[in-house]
Amino acid sequence: ARRMIEKGRALHKRTAELFLQCLREDPQGRQGREYLHKRGVSDQVAVAFGLGFAPLQWEFLTKQLVQEGYSPEELERFGLVVRRAGGEGYYDRFRNRLIFPIFDNQGRPIAFGGRVLGDEMPKYLNSPETPLYKKGQQLYGLHVAGPSIREKGLAILVEGYMDVIACHQHGITQAVATLGTALTAEQGRLLLRYSSSILILYDGDRAGIAATEKAGLILTSMGARVQVLQLQDGMDPDDFLQSQGAEQLWKVIDKAPSYFEYRYEQVRQRHGPTSIQSKVASIRELAPDLLAIPSAVEQEATVQWLARQVGLSESSIVEELRSLSQGGP
Ligand code: ATP
Ligand code: MN
Ligand code: MN
Ligand code: MN
Repeated sequence: ARRMIEKGRALHKRTAELFLQCLREDPQGRQGREYLHKRGVSDQVAVAFGLGFAPLQWEFLTKQLVQEGYSPEELERFGLVVRRAGGEGYYDRFRNRLIFPIFDNQGRPIAFGGRVLGDEMPKYLNSPETPLYKKGQQLYGLHVAGPSIREKGLAILVEGYMDVIACHQHGITQAVATLGTALTAEQGRLLLRYSSSILILYDGDRAGIAATEKAGLILTSMGARVQVLQLQDGMDPDDFLQSQGAEQLWKVIDKAPSYFEYRYEQVRQRHGPTSIQSKVASIRELAPDLLAIPSAVEQEATVQWLARQVGLSESSIVEELRSLSQGGP
């Protein structure tokens, strides 16, 4: 098994090289180069993220890598090729796509993502789970952002490949992505090794808002200091940076509420602040967020804050939390 993993690492290293070469030098990579230019990604940033291009060929990798001594079965095990339905042989999984290698936190490529250059579907295609790649254990961009996260004491959590890259392009070097899936506890633990302060900056659409709530709850329960910035009109960080720039993004980041303040504001807008019923509903809806806070001191301070906001006593909120946590009404 150890040998198989080693071979897989060498295979990913070589594959990343081939895609990179194609993007940088090959006439077939021209569209990829133009696409990156159009999206404002410099050569320097493209190199930092090891970006590549998979040409429009069925057997670009298959041919080259078999020639170099890898078996088709090995390529298939690591998700780089797909077996032809019914027939003999294999074809490349990634074709005519801009390639985003996914690196582990030590900077070794362990999987790939590929984006179409137009509106075709699916927009992104990723390596499947393999012996090297468990997607819930990795954070995209961490190998580049890690030192910056430690230095600045803040991690910025975004959804997508291009969000990380756009942030980096604009000098916001501490961004990492969950790649469209919900943050897992393992990813949370990994991120907390770099910083206990985390800003969630997901897409300002329905899916992004739902994912923000889940990620916020997980990170809160791990004792992180969590802030949330919700973008308007369905924008994502890349869109925001393209239209308004980094200075404006830092301005809104500086004003970003804590996760709990963000949740309170959401609940307040939904229920309205005044009626008895809405107060009760609000407290109940916020209970999981309060109960998730592992520090007793911080939990009490947050209850105090909430009590002031809704005009109730702390003791009645505490009492309500107690009955809810015991499986009450
Ligand atoms: P772009 O700016 O290039 O259009 P995006 O990152 O804004 O892409 P979203 O639709 O917001 O794209 O998706 C966020 C992330 O979710 C993507 O970066 C990608 O990691 C993941 N994702 C999106 N669509 C798919 C898909 N069809 N299959 C797998 N992962 C996907
Ligand atoms: Mn989205
Ligand atoms: Mn997006
Ligand atoms: Mn986008």
